[in-house]
Amino acid sequence: MEEKNILIFGHKNPDTDSICSSLVMEKFDKNLGFSVEAVRLGEVNKETQYVLNYLNLSAPRLIHEVNEGQPVVLVDHNEFTQSANGIEKATIETVIDHHRIANFQTTEPLYYRAEPVGCTATILYKKFKELNMEIEKKEAVLMLSAIISDTLLFKSPTCTIEDKTACENLAHIANIDIDTYGLEMLKAGTDLSDFTPEELINLDSKEFINGDFKFQVAQVNTACIEDVLQNKVDIENAMTNFMTQNGSNLFILLITDILNSNSQSIVLGDTTIFEKAFSKPVENNLAFLEGVVSRKKQVAPIILNALT
Ligand code: MG
Ligand code: MG
Ligand code: MG
Repeated sequence: MEEKNILIFGHKNPDTDSICSSLVMEKFDKNLGFSVEAVRLGEVNKETQYVLNYLNLSAPRLIHEVNEGQPVVLVDHNEFTQSANGIEKATIETVIDHHRIANFQTTEPLYYRAEPVGCTATILYKKFKELNMEIEKKEAVLMLSAIISDTLLFKSPTCTIEDKTACENLAHIANIDIDTYGLEMLKAGTDLSDFTPEELINLDSKEFINGDFKFQVAQVNTACIEDVLQNKVDIENAMTNFMTQNGSNLFILLITDILNSNSQSIVLGDTTIFEKAFSKPVENNLAFLEGVVSRKKQVAPIILNALT
């Protein structure tokens, strides 16, 4: 019987960590002699494209679903709601992740590595080190880019000393100045000018489910919150349409100021849950979240807590 290629992918609406960690994991597994292919579950965003251009790399192949029995490696996610269509029937062989574990189960044993660090690439960096596997410049750039992206240049509360140390060591290998490169890369991701409101709310959007309460938290990075709010009405309409189509109870769009590390949020749907969670009124569909930049640490768990 022909052996199937193992597919490696990150979450839907892939971010820089999902794409870069898939590519790095592909290299890691190939070094170990496995037959693997990094793929992606959605469009490459502009920040990630900056990284690919820097390395003169093309994006992984786009897939929309996985077949029954397809062996897969999940990076940067585990929740089935954020994974490939058909994931329930796939054979999950490995998970490398830094998120909460939820909406996840397998029938077979697997390798599962979760660490509460700021980025999946930091875990991959440790895996290379543990095996004394050489890190080449390409993989160094991919990993440091993912770390800069997920930690917003170390400013996110999700950032740990391990992320920072890994990034500094990788920058040494890649011969890159972290601040200069990092700010350019983050800025590339803040160019939202040619997106429709529908595209904007889907650039980096995740669904969470608690019982029968379904909520969506999307995030966009910007250097100027007011610029994004110029299209507030159109964005709200897109959010409302999304909620109707998807049956969501609540939709939060975080507009994150990467220079000052705050987020303005547009909140639609069951705003009382949001108000309870943050002890803060939603006025004109807006609530300013001082010092909030992390969906994973500062938004999703706060809402989930308020629901229980
Ligand atoms: Mg991610
Ligand atoms: Mg990540
Ligand atoms: Mg992210």
